[in-house]
Amino acid sequence: MSRVLIIGCGGVASVAIHKCCALSDIFTEICIASRTKSKCDALAEKLAPATKTKITTAHVDADSTEEVKALIDSYKPDLVMNIALPYQDLTIMDACLECGVDYMDTANYEPENTDDPKWREIYEKRCREQGFSAYFDYSWQWAYRERFEKAGLTALLGCGFDPGVTQAYCAYAQKHYFDSIDTIDILDCNGGDHGYAFATNFNPEVNLREVSAPGSYWENGHWTEIPAMSIKREYDFDEVGMKDMYLLHHEEIESLAQNIPGVKRIRFFMTFGSSYLMHMKCLENVGMLSTSPVMFDGREIVPIKFLKALLPDPASLGPRTHGKTNIGCIFTGMKDGKEKKYYIYNVCDHQESYREVGSQAISYTTGVPAMCGALMLLTGKWNKKGVHTVEEFDPDPFIEALDMYGLPKKESFEPVLVD
Ligand code: NDP
Repeated sequence: MSRVLIIGCGGVASVAIHKCCALSDIFTEICIASRTKSKCDALAEKLAPATKTKITTAHVDADSTEEVKALIDSYKPDLVMNIALPYQDLTIMDACLECGVDYMDTANYEPENTDDPKWREIYEKRCREQGFSAYFDYSWQWAYRERFEKAGLTALLGCGFDPGVTQAYCAYAQKHYFDSIDTIDILDCNGGDHGYAFATNFNPEVNLREVSAPGSYWENGHWTEIPAMSIKREYDFDEVGMKDMYLLHHEEIESLAQNIPGVKRIRFFMTFGSSYLMHMKCLENVGMLSTSPVMFDGREIVPIKFLKALLPDPASLGPRTHGKTNIGCIFTGMKDGKEKKYYIYNVCDHQESYREVGSQAISYTTGVPAMCGALMLLTGKWNKKGVHTVEEFDPDPFIEALDMYGLPKKESFEPVLVD
């Protein structure tokens, strides 16, 4: 029996909500709250006939801690699932702390306005000290650790697929297969085709900021940063085939470097087709990926927000996307004095996801882990207080839940390694 407040009603949230409604014994009551309430109402209306979960909806501007607090005070949830955007992580965490409610999200904090001088000063210091220049990092949310712990509350950070499941895979490898892990390669392959020359599979603004940024990896205790898309490898993915993949900076590298003892190298690769890369480069070259406002026809516009308005809505890609995703981690290390290799991954079919919940596999592979993370917190299987990432919890019940609710693991003990 639980009451859950879900903030956001986009591609990922809609999958998580579908999945919560299929588990009415646990998710007895949910409130879907977002900036555009009509989207919440439409989803509630669609799901209500087939679920015992009692669904209510609300309007909330989650950029305002006061609005989120007022909503929490009136709804009194056991857990707040933040599936809006990374821009809202801190305002929602503040509200949860003040109201005494557990918190979870699917992506780590980054500011909407990267020109804010106060934020920039801290960001530039972090770039110099840490050696990577992505706009997002865990420091903002890790700063809440003591306050959550003291309040006896849990904040679960980044519980999608990557970050999220990839970290559970690391904890699982560590727990069951290795005495020590030397290297981790996280491979994120989307073999899907939506038929557009250019579209992003999740929020375009967040997605394009991430992939156009310099890449970086963790090796021997420090970050090495490289120009965007400058390290390319080919990999033959199970059920997808041969794909080009590129080294990116990714948020889970930062927490894994702290939580996997003795790890020597962590890299993250994502596949991209040539059409996507060509369009992205061109848009970047003409300034369309800029987050700084420019004057146009007497009014201020932010280029990347204008671009978002032009691109297909990721939520509309479901019916037209065919193919599969394959996301997982390859490990090397030692077990019982012998060298060992291990690969754990999931393959997800875009059309099967669409048939089940009306969304393509990128939203599916993020929304299902979000529901499973909530399930871990609500059933007390994960009950560590403070602010934590997924690899800090017991991976077994989470991976069992993923197996059961749509994202079963596959394993290989003789994987081809990435050079
Ligand atoms: P969408 O843009 O589809 O949805 C975002 C939702 O948040 C929309 O409903 C939007 O409302 C709502 N929202 C935005 N701003 C506010 C606000 N100020 N107050 C209230 N609601 C707001 O994004 P996705 O569903 O694609 O992504 C959701 C999250 O999942 C993002 O944080 C993304 O980074 C993360 N993600 C994580 C992945 C992982 O593997 N860990 C992979 C993919 C995504 P409106 O309808 O009005 O726009």
